[in-house]
Amino acid sequence: MPKTPPLAPGLHPDSLLAHGGGGHDPATGAVVPPIPTATTFVRDEAYAPVSPDHVYSRDDNALYRKTEGLIAALEGGAESRLFASGMAAIAAVARSVAPGGTLLVQSGIYWGTTLFLRKLCARNKVALIEADAGDPQAFLDEISVTRPDLVWLEVPSNPFLQVADIKSISERCRQAGTLLAVDATAATPLILKPLALGADLVMHSATKALNGHSDLLGGVVTSADAGNKAWGLVKEERKLAGAVLGSFETWLLLRGLRTLALRVERMNANAMAVAAFLENHPKVEAVLYPGLAGHPEHDLAKSQMQGGFGSLMSVLIKGGKAEALTVAGALDLFQRATSLGGTESLVEHRFTIEGEGSGIPENLLRLSIGIEHGDDLIADLDQALACL
Ligand code: PLP
Repeated sequence: MPKTPPLAPGLHPDSLLAHGGGGHDPATGAVVPPIPTATTFVRDEAYAPVSPDHVYSRDDNALYRKTEGLIAALEGGAESRLFASGMAAIAAVARSVAPGGTLLVQSGIYWGTTLFLRKLCARNKVALIEADAGDPQAFLDEISVTRPDLVWLEVPSNPFLQVADIKSISERCRQAGTLLAVDATAATPLILKPLALGADLVMHSATKALNGHSDLLGGVVTSADAGNKAWGLVKEERKLAGAVLGSFETWLLLRGLRTLALRVERMNANAMAVAAFLENHPKVEAVLYPGLAGHPEHDLAKSQMQGGFGSLMSVLIKGGKAEALTVAGALDLFQRATSLGGTESLVEHRFTIEGEGSGIPENLLRLSIGIEHGDDLIADLDQALACL
């Protein structure tokens, strides 16, 4: 069987995705790759690996390479590595900061990240600074003054949908000799490309829209530069520390990626329509969504993102916790569950999860908008809000 020719250069991401990165299985001609189940691979009589790319599955296998190659192409990066979850990917990057170093993290981001970084830094004697990216000048000043080893951003942030200015932060990081990593989970690589804006690393929880079917945990980190030191340490976390994604999950992820462009298009359109509906509803205090003209960083979001503003939003219900829970409880089509980026729309009362002291408003409902018909989503929200 001849070697699979690569897909023609210059294809749109949609086409790359539709072909799962391109090519067919060289052994059989199958258009979908097999799931490699072997953990180990033989050597010949001279003790050379029979296939030089196959030694042991914690290091690598053909399916990881194919999936990582596709994601690196989407991000415009040099290399990607898959991890066992989004948090494993975040941990791999955060652990690149040595004891005695400094990590500057945007405040008000995914609670799991904040919690993990607080614990990790305290244990490893890394100074952790939490700074509000909503005050852009103060954030830039903090980088210049503290010259951290790593800056961690989340764009847009979960659940406040804050949009940090990646380009200006990356320029300041370069001046300070700081590595910039961006969690772009809520955007997807189709609408936000942090590496093109100057970030060194971009990370996604593949559990969310990349896979899109709420049926696997995964994470991925992509580096702009294959040679930088921090990237070498991230790769060690995968290969030596073993935070590797299973082959079956990788196969599911690659299958999910085939429809990413279609899903993102529908989710973005639905989210925009839902946000516009909620913004004008008398029972709603505010809608946090970067696609709305009233969002404080709408112009920045428009210039940083292409083709939409993502499928995540938060809505502040007039009243308090009781009113928010009444609306959540009355929704029929939206499912009451955590997570985001799946085909099905979800609602979550974040205060119930994060609790007192988290800074989450008690009247906030986070919505992850799926691929249902937009009219059905709006009708569901309408009837739930009518219960107040
Ligand atoms: N980053 C963001 C923005 C998230 O929302 C989440 C999970 O909700 C994560 C990272 C963690 O990903 P995972 O659940 O795959 O570990």
